[in-house]
Amino acid sequence: MTLYIKDATFIDWQGLTFKKTDIEVDQGIDGGINLVDVIDLKPGDRSRVLDAKGKFVTKSFGCGHHHIYSTLARGMPAPAKTPENFVEILKYIWWNLDKNLDLDMIKASALAAALFCAKNGVTFVIDHHASPFAVEGSLSIIKQAFDFIGISHLLCYEISDRGGEKIRDAGLCETENFLKAGNQGHVGLHASFTVEDDLLEKAVKLAGKYNTGIHVHVAEDLADQDHCVKNYKKRVVQRFSDAGVLDLSGSILGHCIHLDEDEKKTLKDSGVWVVENVESNLNNNVGLTDYSAHGSNIMLGTDGMHSDMLRSAKSAFFVGQGTEGISFPEIYQRFRNIHRFIKENRYRGDSDNNLVVLDYNTPTQMSQDNFLGHFLFGIESSHVDSVISSGRLIVENRKLITANEEDILSFAKEMGNKLWKKL
Ligand SMILES: [Zn+2]
Repeated sequence: MTLYIKDATFIDWQGLTFKKTDIEVDQGIDGGINLVDVIDLKPGDRSRVLDAKGKFVTKSFGCGHHHIYSTLARGMPAPAKTPENFVEILKYIWWNLDKNLDLDMIKASALAAALFCAKNGVTFVIDHHASPFAVEGSLSIIKQAFDFIGISHLLCYEISDRGGEKIRDAGLCETENFLKAGNQGHVGLHASFTVEDDLLEKAVKLAGKYNTGIHVHVAEDLADQDHCVKNYKKRVVQRFSDAGVLDLSGSILGHCIHLDEDEKKTLKDSGVWVVENVESNLNNNVGLTDYSAHGSNIMLGTDGMHSDMLRSAKSAFFVGQGTEGISFPEIYQRFRNIHRFIKENRYRGDSDNNLVVLDYNTPTQMSQDNFLGHFLFGIESSHVDSVISSGRLIVENRKLITANEEDILSFAKEMGNKLWKKL
């Protein structure tokens, strides 16, 4: 069954050209699209035709750094102690939450996160997962939930020494089993300050074996650098560079806030990817940085705060005014760079047949010349009308159609209450 979109105004996401057209959408993970003058359906043809009259159609969005494990945190009880710095935020909030997750809670978190991604037009998610007392099977559960909703993914488990040898080895084992089964994914590490040399070496070796990269937090807070200099007599980027992290194609370094000029140059020369998550940085009060010296491989994420990449782009633009005087085209590029990351590293699930239909009621005219002004000051996730992921219609008229939205949210609430009781 072919999917057609009728009477669309198609915006080419790269050239930003506008074209009134019908669109034939291929099915499947490597599918494309054809812009056609007419939809020629023979009698009895069961093809689906989506009416997009007055609406805009463009490439859907991707999230470069998510934490689905934090989905049930919204509205949770306050921590036992008010954290006074970043390490205490981890200790009293996030590590308390992730240690209490079980496999059912992970399933609920992944389903709800995938639901929100879908409704926000985000069809590809790069996730960094932690659940130290429910490691085994966690990646498969997230994968199944994402596949069920229809969101493409690049997953990993954030392995760490923070919980001791047994949990560390469970993380390595879960990662290898997931990759061995033929799933695309990263080898995840938490951050330099919770990863000892032995684990770092094993992780790099494992990533090399499965031809993928490392996904890790880097210098999110100054504490990460201080720990590294004290324990390893070098800075974090140097440590990861010496270990071979930057040589692995597909490696992603999250945050990279507290880097010196040498470290920025190392990243730039290596071509490794950096993910910017400014809302999270503001929330944790860890500082902000000018990313313009980190090279051109910068993409945007949410750091698990939400699943709305249009919101992340706007936040990065407003913060970028103060930190680096970022321009409209530069922020749009960062928002769209995830497509280049996926393509260059031959991951799958982001072909041309990933589309978003925007019902955008603008008070002013929009064209190729001023699209970026609308992108930053007008278009929001509330305008996402329909979403197509790998040729499959997953959201129609603002409603998820691959699964029952109410069922997912009530299951998530039930699991959220169960989790909060344990905190
Ligand atoms: Zn993160």
